[in-house]
Amino acid sequence: MPEGLILILLFVLGGCVGSFLNVCIVRIPEKLSIVAPPSHCPKCKKPIAFYDNIPLVSYIILGGRCRHCKLPIPFRYFVVELLTAAVLPGLYVWSGLTLPLALSFIFCAALIVITFIDLQLQIIPDIISLPGIPLCFLCSFFVPWTTPLESAIGILVGGGVLYGVAAGYYFLRKKEGMGGGDIKLLAMIGAFLGWKGALVALVVGAFAGSIIGVMAMLLKGKDMKYAIPFGPFLSLGALCSLLYGAELLHWYLALGRG
Ligand SMILES: [Zn+2]
Repeated sequence: MPEGLILILLFVLGGCVGSFLNVCIVRIPEKLSIVAPPSHCPKCKKPIAFYDNIPLVSYIILGGRCRHCKLPIPFRYFVVELLTAAVLPGLYVWSGLTLPLALSFIFCAALIVITFIDLQLQIIPDIISLPGIPLCFLCSFFVPWTTPLESAIGILVGGGVLYGVAAGYYFLRKKEGMGGGDIKLLAMIGAFLGWKGALVALVVGAFAGSIIGVMAMLLKGKDMKYAIPFGPFLSLGALCSLLYGAELLHWYLALGRG
């Protein structure tokens, strides 16, 4: 099969998965089933026909509104579909058609759901991160970038480092700076990437988070510090670590040696 065709097919498949992730993002925090009932408009309750449920295309054709009552569909739906559609061929270029491709795509899909739930509600649902920890540990038997031992250490380091930061912050400020959700998320990331990968994810996430945090404080005032969730940055860090972890670590160690 020509390479271009594979990329297009993976993009389409990714878009379909993204459409499902949108359902997860809405229903998981409300503890609703993610398979039934079929999608419907929250206002007019009309079910969404299959031809209005085509990833990316339908959003554009409908102009971002319900076909029947014209209720605006959040732009998030389009962003999640586009992001998921782009991630799958991106990972394919990186790993080829392999088992690690499937596993890392599922991992990224979980991060996308976590990111958008955290952005909206400032929570990271346990129902993803907690089962994610043993499942990611299982993956470590089948992927080239880590070993089961490094994965197990990753769970402890990932969970432990943030727990220490959170406890220290609480001790100094008597205020919760970091949620337990972030701790469980980094433990899951550590299970999937190994402890080195988890540290790279944390450093990249904290770096990106501080830049955005400082910008938000400059633009909107000091209170923004508590309004920015950390989960999206940890997820971004995990993706960078997955794709470029070895290079980032190399570069950092080389800096240390001068
Ligand atoms: Zn409607």
